[in-house]
Amino acid sequence: MEEIEEEILTFYYNGYQKFESFQILQSALTSKGHSLIEFYNEFLIDIYILLDNPESKFIAIDWDNTISADQTFFIELIKQLQKSDYTPFVCTLRAPNTENIEEILSILEDANIAIYLTDGNPKREYMKDLGVDVHLWIDDFYPGICRETSSLLTRNHIK
Ligand SMILES: [Mg+2]
Repeated sequence: MEEIEEEILTFYYNGYQKFESFQILQSALTSKGHSLIEFYNEFLIDIYILLDNPESKFIAIDWDNTISADQTFFIELIKQLQKSDYTPFVCTLRAPNTENIEEILSILEDANIAIYLTDGNPKREYMKDLGVDVHLWIDDFYPGICRETSSLLTRNHIK
């Protein structure tokens, strides 16, 4: 008989721990058995949680190797965040074409969530141009969010 193995993901967060958003994340991670580390080690980390604007309610979640890495976990997390008045949305570097949108929608179905496709453009600048200040970025690939020199990275103790 074939056994389906669920992959344990390692998340990184090194910000203020008392935000409600982080508490929701932390309990979701614990109940799913994913791990959370506070030290930067690119070889251990699967998914980064980067704290940007503490006042914002917007939470940007990447698609490839983030939501796609554990769809049921993220669908549940999205619901929990929405219940607490956060606005999670999908933010991917993918091209804005129908095929990509349909693939994402087919999995998120009734999650009632916005999808932004930046077409390879740095996500933080892209969202700022749309007037969206982000509270947390959840992403496996931080160079897709901002430039290497951005203070967002040093504030999150990366590098
Ligand atoms: Mg990704």
